[in-house]
Amino acid sequence: MRQSALFTKVSRNIDKDEVSLNAQLLTRAGYVEKLMAGVYSFLPLGLRVLTKIEGIVRQEMDALGAQEIVMPALQPKDPWEQTGRWDTVDILFKFKGAGDRDMTLGPTHEEVVTPLVGKQIQSYRDLPIAVYQIQTKFRNEARAKSGLLRGREFRMKDMYSFHTSQNDLDAFYDRVVDAYKRVFQRCGVGESTLLTAASGGMFSKFSHEFQTLTESGEDIVYLHPDEPLGINRELMELPDIIKELNLVQPDGTYRPMEERKAIEVGNIFKLGTRFSDAFKLAFVDESGQKQSVIMGCYGLGPTRLMGAVVETLSDESGLKWPKEIAPFTLHLISLAKNAEEQEKAERIYASLTASGFQVLFDDRMDLRAGEKFAESDLLGVPDRLVVSSKTLAQESVEHKSRFTGATSLIPLGGLEAAASNM
Ligand code: ATP
Ligand code: MG
Repeated sequence: MRQSALFTKVSRNIDKDEVSLNAQLLTRAGYVEKLMAGVYSFLPLGLRVLTKIEGIVRQEMDALGAQEIVMPALQPKDPWEQTGRWDTVDILFKFKGAGDRDMTLGPTHEEVVTPLVGKQIQSYRDLPIAVYQIQTKFRNEARAKSGLLRGREFRMKDMYSFHTSQNDLDAFYDRVVDAYKRVFQRCGVGESTLLTAASGGMFSKFSHEFQTLTESGEDIVYLHPDEPLGINRELMELPDIIKELNLVQPDGTYRPMEERKAIEVGNIFKLGTRFSDAFKLAFVDESGQKQSVIMGCYGLGPTRLMGAVVETLSDESGLKWPKEIAPFTLHLISLAKNAEEQEKAERIYASLTASGFQVLFDDRMDLRAGEKFAESDLLGVPDRLVVSSKTLAQESVEHKSRFTGATSLIPLGGLEAAASNM
């Protein structure tokens, strides 16, 4: 893509009421635009990142054998009454539709997916199954000051699994943990994202969150002294969980644990029969007995994850995208001083693009080199290639890594091979 054609502009000014780093940088770089607190438009560069994150999530869920569906965001009140959640879920948007009918916009989809799956399942032979969607969710969050980290309208991948036994749920749940780890690794926050024991497990001692450790996080987690495991401070009964994790010392005191701030990027639960009982979701087992289906649910927020990547990896100059989720993998910058040099830069752009590289081409001739580099740092494409009189004189381009800052000259003849290995 030519930067001269990109309709979004980089801005030097920081919006006064954006207090979070992720919203400040993403807005300045033209990735997103706020409509109101917690509600953002995704512009071309931002949408490319979000689509790539969602693509990784989709791949990893498909690899588990889960099947993708899309359920309605617009939902009637009735199933929410049936689970008792119409009055207890405080972030539910509620309004009236035609005919004075009470409705909501889905903050999660147990109320829709459970009866939906019930229509397809009769016997143990129909199980296990897992379905998921990647969809826009709505929550009337009280405070929405953290940019993409806490949206009122945001993207969520929600998966639901259905089993005949606890053992089968347990085995699937463990595979989901591994799939989530791969998602966070591929998005560049694998090292800083910790599996964390949290409250809310209805069918197990705890649920599990995936918490990305960063100062801007709203959650507090304790680091397990021996294992790669966190413990959420909001936990039901801290003493219980500490006992559960063998963190009580012989003298009765707790093992010391480091306290850190973190962002919850995923949350997985063993639901048991809480929702299948509410909707009479049952199967006939091998001996002809009717039994409740055992459920698990698995949430992951692609927009929040995008914000978490920004909070974790950015520096004072701007964004930094890991290759797999970068809007473009190469930022080709022309510093041509005349038409002849520009023509050479054009040819490099055409050949890289033809070879399948995703190239953002700064073809603008009216900006100074310093301005172009500052914009490039802000946009955060992982590898920069500069074409100038100096490099052309040596039949080469200059490469600079956004992550390491390392520079090198690459001969034009070997450019494609070098770019494949960046
Ligand atoms: P929090 O405690 O931060 O409000 P939650 O526990 O209510 O989140 P879940 O219901 O577990 O969130 O939702 C599953 C996932 O969806 C979360 O792990 C997170 O990645 C994402 N998510 C939840 N709420 C939001 C939000 N307001 N904005 C962006 N992403 C969200
Ligand atoms: Mg949660």
